[in-house]
Amino acid sequence: MVNMGSVSDSSCLNKAVRQQYLNLPQRDKCQVTYIWIDGTGEGLRNKTRTLDCEPQTVEDIPEWNFDGSSTYQAEGSNSDMYLIPVAMFRDPFTLDPNKLVLCEVLKYNRLPAETNHRHRCKKVMEEVRERCIWFGMEQEYTLLGMDRHPFGWPKNGYPGPQGPYYCGVGADNAYGRDIVECHYKACLYAGVKICGTNAEVMPSQWEFQVGPCEGIDMGDHLWVARFLLHRVCEDFGVIATLDPKPMVGNWNGAGCHTNVSTREMREEGGLQVIEEAIEKLSKNHNKHIKEYDPRGGKDNMRRLTGLHETSSIHDFSAGVANRGASIRIPRQVGQDGRGYFEDRRPAANCDPYAVTRVIATTCLLVPEEDEEKE
Ligand code: ADP
Ligand code: MN
Ligand code: MN
Ligand code: MN
Repeated sequence: MVNMGSVSDSSCLNKAVRQQYLNLPQRDKCQVTYIWIDGTGEGLRNKTRTLDCEPQTVEDIPEWNFDGSSTYQAEGSNSDMYLIPVAMFRDPFTLDPNKLVLCEVLKYNRLPAETNHRHRCKKVMEEVRERCIWFGMEQEYTLLGMDRHPFGWPKNGYPGPQGPYYCGVGADNAYGRDIVECHYKACLYAGVKICGTNAEVMPSQWEFQVGPCEGIDMGDHLWVARFLLHRVCEDFGVIATLDPKPMVGNWNGAGCHTNVSTREMREEGGLQVIEEAIEKLSKNHNKHIKEYDPRGGKDNMRRLTGLHETSSIHDFSAGVANRGASIRIPRQVGQDGRGYFEDRRPAANCDPYAVTRVIATTCLLVPEEDEEKE
């Protein structure tokens, strides 16, 4: 096969040859790929080992370790880090009985690593367990060629202006759908709770949705969905970036809208409970913005301009069916008088553990008088 320039060399290897080896019988052994978040708080790492039999639950998968000095996670000369398996999925690449396992990272002293936001999130989700908090996150991303120019865009220029691309069809409107379809199937096979997908406003920008997921499952499922996205893109030789504003100018940025409901909000009279939660969120805007991208708001500054279907990073606003607000109450929820709300502020590269933790804390835990101080 010929490399067309902007795709990777490894994606041009002969994939028919690969299939012969993947088809070899495996007998009773099981391959388990451990996945973790690296020291950047955005990057994912993985490595694989053989187990003698298929694990039935995540508890059957042993702890492991890795060299933290090679993942921006080391602490001085103690560079061994612990991998603690927390959520198990089927492996859509090497197929059953092989597994993917998402891990928490602990330092040499068994305290959570700096970018292990799951640890704190889990504690909050356990505290609010009886409120049955559900999340659904809309992950937007942009496909890039190996030259980091958006995939399918003219080499030295721009495609036509935004308009025909959102939910578009046709070779001139939808760039890279193969990746979207393969990723969707891979998520379903793995057991990731993906619930939909669509083409976005900027060409070669796409979205998938995960949810509804209760509590800690939101972060677990979104991180594994991201791993699968990067892994599928690797096969096709292109890059998926979660940068919240990959192209400056008149091009939409990429967010990770976070939809939220508690049992009370989903029941009759729920709209009032939603409005109470929004009132609390309005008093904690800056605290939330700090948690909505990995750089304390710096990344989101480029995206939350008040243009391109975003609100300004400096202001809090809320409204029914308003896509220019920080918080949107979907029209249907306004009509039904119950349901969920959407926080449109999180950036595409947010850590879902940090986002869901701060939302649950503000809406369900922080006592009213402490809000401004927190
Ligand atoms: P939008 O109209 O904002 O583009 P999407 O259809 O892309 O909305 O995404 C809707 C998201 O809301 C999905 O992730 C879905 O799982 C989530 N969701 C639906 N119902 C609830 C609920 N009751 N609580 C929390 N999240 C929900
Ligand atoms: Mn959406
Ligand atoms: Mn979207
Ligand atoms: Mn949305």
